[in-house]
Amino acid sequence: MSAPGNLPPFRVGILGLGTVGQGVVRVLQKNAAEIAARAGRPIVVTHASVRNPTRPRDCDTSGITLVSDPAQVLRAEVDVVVELIGGISPARELVLEALAAGKPVVTANKALLAEKGNEIFAAAARHGAQLAYEAAVAGGIPIIKALREGLAGNGIDSLAGIINGTCNYILTQMTVKGQSFHDALKDAQKLGYAEADPTFDVEGIDAAHKLTILAAIAFGMPLRFDAVATEGIGQVTAQDIALARELGYRIKSLGIAKRGERGVELRVHPTLVPAEHLLAKTDGALNAVRVHGNAVGQTVYVGRGAGGDPTASAVVADLVDVARLHGADPRHFVPYLGFHGEALRQQHALSFAEIESAYYLRLRVADEPGVLRAITSILAESEISIEAILQKEPGENEDATLAIITSEIPEHRCNAALDRMLKLPFVREGASRLRVEHFE
Ligand code: NAP
Repeated sequence: MSAPGNLPPFRVGILGLGTVGQGVVRVLQKNAAEIAARAGRPIVVTHASVRNPTRPRDCDTSGITLVSDPAQVLRAEVDVVVELIGGISPARELVLEALAAGKPVVTANKALLAEKGNEIFAAAARHGAQLAYEAAVAGGIPIIKALREGLAGNGIDSLAGIINGTCNYILTQMTVKGQSFHDALKDAQKLGYAEADPTFDVEGIDAAHKLTILAAIAFGMPLRFDAVATEGIGQVTAQDIALARELGYRIKSLGIAKRGERGVELRVHPTLVPAEHLLAKTDGALNAVRVHGNAVGQTVYVGRGAGGDPTASAVVADLVDVARLHGADPRHFVPYLGFHGEALRQQHALSFAEIESAYYLRLRVADEPGVLRAITSILAESEISIEAILQKEPGENEDATLAIITSEIPEHRCNAALDRMLKLPFVREGASRLRVEHFE
């Protein structure tokens, strides 16, 4: 297959040849002919920077000028800069420098965009430069393109996604093997799915970065990482997973964005999902995003959310877009966040306390008469309806367990009722409270 036209190769400079950077080199080499045919010209990596140029790489670097100073790549004769270093600094300074020189930038850096994206998109607009970031959310799943372009005819009401593979792997292991959170985390670390310091993933920060980007594109608002309410998965026990299963649910860590009359909800937390929903069936390290549009209804996107080659698939798709539009009038670019910059609107973001949701409550109670009546009375007095209830009989000398699914209520009302229950003499310490999402 030969490339159409006589355009010279599109020259790529990559900052960072780690997991994703090496994947980009491999994918560009493996699919060179198809990529050239799609882009209208070959796309080749000519320069790359790494911290340690003597370290062996898991890709063919012949033909690539490998340097240790990223600024050298910026100054080289490259047509596009791909930032795959990660983190805020020096990535931010390098991206801004490339944009200031009018160079298009492709990045997979969700932390950088979620936290500094407003500054970076403004700089890109000022300099008329393209800035593409498909790989920043859900790895190989083209969710940015789906939201920005494929669903452009819709008002987006809500989206919900499994957007952190580490959490999904841990919760899947807990579900399938009955493991504790700590044992599942240890396994995830052994297999390379979790970092030695897993805080970013298990506390929901990485998912909050991705949700910030998705919500901005879905709702036409500036990036608001500070507005994402986040809870980690460390509170989920194997018992919660087993009880949720008996009640017809799976527990997933979801990033959820919703738009309503009172404002937008941006939240990341462990969530009970009906067992028959596609998100409940997305297991292991896979990612999935459900988007609800007011014309199309529900759409769901599933695939590999991390790893060298799946993430490179998204980076290379961006490179094809950038190569096609190289030299074009910036007015022809798809707007960075899908909405023209002047059309972006700040929206009130609700706090956890303001958000309404159904809840799963688990209580350890003494095996005594009248317990159930006392608990259901508190719920009734708090105007909380019970959607489902499960009572597990105790073994000898053990406490009983109650699991309850409530109607949709504001969090403060749920917390107040739970506080009252915990003061009852026969309710033991160690209750659990998780949110439930029904996707109606
Ligand atoms: P990585 O494996 O840690 O690679 C980082 C690369 O940057 C390495 O080549 C490293 O050099 C270089 N580097 C690190 N610090 C540097 C510094 N201060 N100055 C210059 N170069 C530096 O990272 P990755 O997993 O490929 O991730 C890259 C980006 O993709 C991140 O933003 C990440 O969030 C995003 N992403 C990753 C995945 C994934 O599955 N890994 C998925 C989606 C998005 P050495 O090789 O010499 O150490």
